[in-house]
Amino acid sequence: MRAWDYDPDGSRHGGMPTYPYRMAPTGLATRRQLAALKLTPGTSEPAAQLVWRRGERKAYLFHIDRAKPKREATPAQLAALGRAMKVRRTCDMCGTEQPYCVSRKYEACNPCIDTWMAVA
Ligand SMILES: [Zn+2]
Repeated sequence: MRAWDYDPDGSRHGGMPTYPYRMAPTGLATRRQLAALKLTPGTSEPAAQLVWRRGERKAYLFHIDRAKPKREATPAQLAALGRAMKVRRTCDMCGTEQPYCVSRKYEACNPCIDTWMAVA
């Protein structure tokens, strides 16, 4: 590690407290580490930054106690999504729900399009 990278008061990094990789203070986590805990920094500003590979790589550090739970889809949202998918799988011509999304262009399933093409 370079002593330059150990800068807890940020005096060498424009006021951003800076720590070398693996020397982050406890209570801070990167966005990726928060995601592993099903958390997100939300609107909180980064509290510090980590640097590694001679400063080539950086990651912001956030206060874990200010992180917010990641919003999971609610049952209502999942139901709405399921309905939307069902609409996309349902043929407008014969009303059959297919295991695939029907053609957006014709809003019809493949057998209907084939039949329609044959008579057109
Ligand atoms: Zn059809």
